[in-house]
Amino acid sequence: MTARYRIGHGYDVHRFVEGRPLILGGVEIPFERGLQGHSDADALLHAVCDAMLGALALGDIGRHFPDTDERFRGISSLTLLESANGLIRAKGYAVANVDTVIVLQRPKIGPYVERMRERIARTLDIGIDAVSIKATTSEGMGFTGTGEGLVAHAVVLLERQEDNA
Ligand code: MG
Repeated sequence: MTARYRIGHGYDVHRFVEGRPLILGGVEIPFERGLQGHSDADALLHAVCDAMLGALALGDIGRHFPDTDERFRGISSLTLLESANGLIRAKGYAVANVDTVIVLQRPKIGPYVERMRERIARTLDIGIDAVSIKATTSEGMGFTGTGEGLVAHAVVLLERQEDNA
């Protein structure tokens, strides 16, 4: 791959359940329910990983980190993000910027957004100003509106690194 820029899109959904911590963007958010999943179920980081892999047509997160693999049970998705970053860096690319949207009714995530941005930026070894996290509700409609689950979307732009190409 030699294109200067590559773009990728990621999307993930997880169900809210009792008895799990809520982890989004690598940050634990106080809430009465958490997300169900094989790993820590961090839908935001999963969407970012998928967008990074997609940008280089490397398949999806399920192919690289299968939920049938015991190594990934309960794993921090920051570790998955670090691995995805290693894959794209090995191909000569780095994340130029990432923009995300989380769709959920509750809880309010505003107070945690800066910490999420920091954690993602540090893991990807990029500036915090290259990491955008936005949130919206679905106005009470559908499975995000009833609180059955949440959705995360991510778009990632990769730029080829000339020095290690
Ligand atoms: Mg997921």
